[in-house]
Parts: sequence; C-alpha cells; structure tokens
Amino acid sequence: MQGKPVAEAIRARLSAKIERIRNAIGRAPCIATVMVGSDEAVSIFARRIARVHEGLGMTHLPVELPPDTTPQALTDACAKLSGDPNVDGIIPLLPLPEHLSLEDALRGLSPEKDVDGIHPINAGRLLLGQTAFVPATPAGGMEILAHYGIELRGKRAVVVGRSNIVGKPMALLLLAQHATVTICHSRTHDLPSVVREADVVAAAVGRPAMIKGDWLKPGAVVVDFGINSVDGQVVGDVEFASAQEVASAITPVPGGTGPVTNLMLASNTVEAASRLASL
Ligand code: NDP
Repeated sequence: MQGKPVAEAIRARLSAKIERIRNAIGRAPCIATVMVGSDEAVSIFARRIARVHEGLGMTHLPVELPPDTTPQALTDACAKLSGDPNVDGIIPLLPLPEHLSLEDALRGLSPEKDVDGIHPINAGRLLLGQTAFVPATPAGGMEILAHYGIELRGKRAVVVGRSNIVGKPMALLLLAQHATVTICHSRTHDLPSVVREADVVAAAVGRPAMIKGDWLKPGAVVVDFGINSVDGQVVGDVEFASAQEVASAITPVPGGTGPVTNLMLASNTVEAASRLASL
C-alpha cells in the first residue's frame, strides 16, 4: 500500500476546499508552527510542514521562540495565535527544550485550532466518538486502509504502541470502524502470539524491524508507522522483507504512511479554516 496515490487523492480533495475558503474569507488557510530553540530535527519538520501547506496554496506562519523561553511565554505565544483571526491551525513542534512541557503550550492552545489533535478536548472527543481533530499520523493510516478498500468491520486489529499521538488514537479509529482492537506495549507478554491473532496490524513502536514476518497471520494487513534511522537508511517497525511474504497488504517505509501524514495535517488545517469561516 503505497502512500503516494493516497496523498494525491487527498491533495485533489483539498484543492477544491481551499479554493472555496479563499473565495469566502479572502485568504488561504494558514497554519502556524511554534518552535522553541533550534533543534535540527524540529527545523526539518517545520520546513516540511511549510512545503506541504504552501504546495497546496496555503500559508505557513513560522513562530520561532528563543531557547530560554519561559513556560508562561510559550503559553502566551500559543494564546496569541489562538486569538489571531488570520491563523487557522497551530502546531507546537516537539520535542520542546527540557524546561518546557507540552502542557505549557496546551494551556494557550485553542482546541478549535489544534490541528494535530493533541489537546485533551480533541483527544476526549475522539474517545467519545465525536467530531474531533485527529492526530495526523493515525488519521493517515486510516486513509490508507480506506483507499485500498481494507474491510475493518468485525476484524481483529492489533496496535503495537500506545502513545497519545499514534498508538492510542489509531486504536480508537479502528474501533470506530468496528474492528475488535487490542493495544500492545512494552509490557505485553508474548507479543508475537498477540500479533499473530491480527487481521490488521498497526505498528507504532519506534524499534527498527521489530515485527517479523513469522509474527503475522497469513494474509494480514500491515500498517507500519515506524520511522527509524539505521545506517543512514529509514526503516519501519516491521521487517518488510519477511512481512511482505506473509501479509496480503503492507505499507512500505519509506513511502507508506509518511507522505500521507503531512497531507492529513493540511487536511485538518483546511477543516479548521472552514469551521472558523462557518462554511
Ligand atoms: P513512542 O516512543 O511515544 O511510543 C512507542 C510505543 O511503543 C510505546 O507505547 C511503547 O510502550 C511501545 N514499545 C516500545 N518498545 C516496545 C516493545 N519492545 N514491545 C512492544 N511495545 C513497545 O513513539 P511514537 O508513538 O511517537 O512513534 C512510534 C513510531 O512511529 C516511531 O518510529 C516514530 O518515528 C513513528 N512516527 C511516525 C510518524 C509518521 O508520520 N509515520 C509520525 C509520528 C511518529 P510503553 O508505552 O510501554 O513504553
């Protein structure tokens, strides 16, 4: 399951919506990134967000705060953007320097502009099955499954990883599609045998090639969110070579979930803009 065709389908869908918003409010949807300090990985992420949004005709407002920013100043920066009528989406970039926490950003972040779905209001709404901004990575995983016509109703799904940004929301999204979901983590006993029960496996572990082909049930569908660097190469959490022998469908790394994630963030920004414009 290649990500590119999915990304292209989303791009086409978004272009029409962006045009409608531009006609209605006289400007393109705008995402603001909030970066504290100058971490190289964070800068790369900010540039990627800019590229994807600008490529769609949207705007990007980079907010760069000094490394000694206080918790209150981070809250204030997010609150200022939350009140700015020219900004539709806000994403505080992680990791933050040690003396700051995500909570400091969340205190100022409006849930209506929380396009990465990290605010407790959006996490709670997702849990309750209400309309919510969903974190871009698992939302992209679901787009891929839908694009390739993978039936989820009544299927056994195993999600490996329970982070708030990937594993847990992925499990909730699969549940919402009527899969029977198991969430695994570092304390799960006999992980291979739990994974072997799955019709659909979602891997969000952060350990290169941990899930092997012989852990899979023949015909399983595998969504690999892993992005791990090994000897200068990017590899997933699933051992692709052995897994593709057993799986009926699998996302490659790179080229699977990655390209879709960025577009889902843009999709959330467009959604935020259309809600704020009451479209
Ligand atoms: P976290 O480190 O926050 O979470 C990892 C999860 O994996 C934890 O729940 C942890 O369990 C679990 N885990 C760790 N080791 C094991 C093990 N040996 N057996 C079973 N479970 C284990 O990572 P993220 O969720 O943020 O990211 C996961 C992966 O997805 C990473 O490779 C990351 O790079 C990638 N990623 C990909 C994105 C994309 O766009 N495709 C975007 C964001 C992340 P416990 O809770 O018990 O510690």
